[in-house]
Amino acid sequence: MRQLIILFSGFLLLPLSSLHAQINVQAEFQFFQDRLDEATTAAGVAAFSVAETDQIKANILNRLDTAFSGFDINFNEAAGIVAVTSAVRAGDEGLRFSLTSSTVSGPDSPIPGLPLLGTSAQGIDFLNRNTGASDVFTANFSSLLDVGDARADQIAEISAGLSSTAAHELGHGLGLQHRDSFGIASLQATNSQGGYQSALGQRVHYLANTFTGRTEEFRESASTFSDLSKVKLQFAQGLTANPIAVTPESGNQMTIADAQPIGLSALSTGLEYDQTAVVEGTFAGLAEYFSIDLQAGDTVLLELLSEAHLTNSFDSVLRLFDTDGSTLLFENDNVQFNIDGVNLGSTIEDTTDSLLWNLPITQSGRYFIELDSAVAGDQGDYHLLVAVNQAAAVPEPGGMLVLIAASTALAIRRRRAGKQTC
Ligand SMILES: [Zn+2]
Repeated sequence: MRQLIILFSGFLLLPLSSLHAQINVQAEFQFFQDRLDEATTAAGVAAFSVAETDQIKANILNRLDTAFSGFDINFNEAAGIVAVTSAVRAGDEGLRFSLTSSTVSGPDSPIPGLPLLGTSAQGIDFLNRNTGASDVFTANFSSLLDVGDARADQIAEISAGLSSTAAHELGHGLGLQHRDSFGIASLQATNSQGGYQSALGQRVHYLANTFTGRTEEFRESASTFSDLSKVKLQFAQGLTANPIAVTPESGNQMTIADAQPIGLSALSTGLEYDQTAVVEGTFAGLAEYFSIDLQAGDTVLLELLSEAHLTNSFDSVLRLFDTDGSTLLFENDNVQFNIDGVNLGSTIEDTTDSLLWNLPITQSGRYFIELDSAVAGDQGDYHLLVAVNQAAAVPEPGGMLVLIAASTALAIRRRRAGKQTC
């Protein structure tokens, strides 16, 4: 819920935050010239002049405006230092280009073994309920400065690289994760774990990282937020005039008969997903059930977020049952991704959260979602995100047969025994 900030000043009560929520990002460029000097020195190119540094700053702010177009967010240069835990004003975000980091091999390193490009002090702030600063480590961008390039290209490429990482880190601070980069509405699950090959489509998205193919070439190019990221930002506090409300868990949900119906909100035109919902609750150690009404030709994405962003987390399992309430169609324990795609049986795991990606729905009706834990008795808080793409084409006959075979095999095999690793 939006907060109205009142400041008592003399005899006046001044509302500092209007009823129309808006996020102001305070971009801190203290010591920016020093950090750029370190990058140019490391790259072996001439230092940027004051005028060139000002141009890079202006480019960064302009590119961030473009990255977040359609959202109520302003980017301004901060007057001074921005603290890590609190922005200038409640609801604002900090974005700092002035710090240094020698930490290597983090998820946001340019290549494994090189220092971090950025970090977000807020972690994954799903729904944007907190305020804080994100950092872009300007001095570590020397690999984007090529000696042989024209000066204009050097300025353009470092501007693009810095703004790309800024959008990525701020994205974390607004609730986005690396795996969101694979959330492309036009792709459909091709296996019973709700996974697909992504044909490198994730690379153009801000939340992709080095390990999923976001190389220098893509950091220097025009990028976007993925369809899934754009859905999540519709729930983030302050980013739109009317963020979509979160649905609380209700009822006992202990059996299919007591499944909690999930009501979907329509998404604005221009987004590839058409309907969405986020349920917020606490998993008490026994399976919970939800129902959802879907149409033939829909695809539905189901994501369970717990370990990703909550301190009281648990190792979840998600299952989708057919309209009969008993035939298991899709099941995922740990969401997986690598450069090829998601939930493909890779040994690389993201978290113990669960994600069923764009499941094809072949007949209209009421489907059932089971939320379970991978370890008996495990308990914790969660968010369950649903995103439906109603515009999906029905899978081709060959693909359908494979899916039916996979689903049948899974139904016969029934429940998987425990989780793999944790
Ligand atoms: Zn990241």
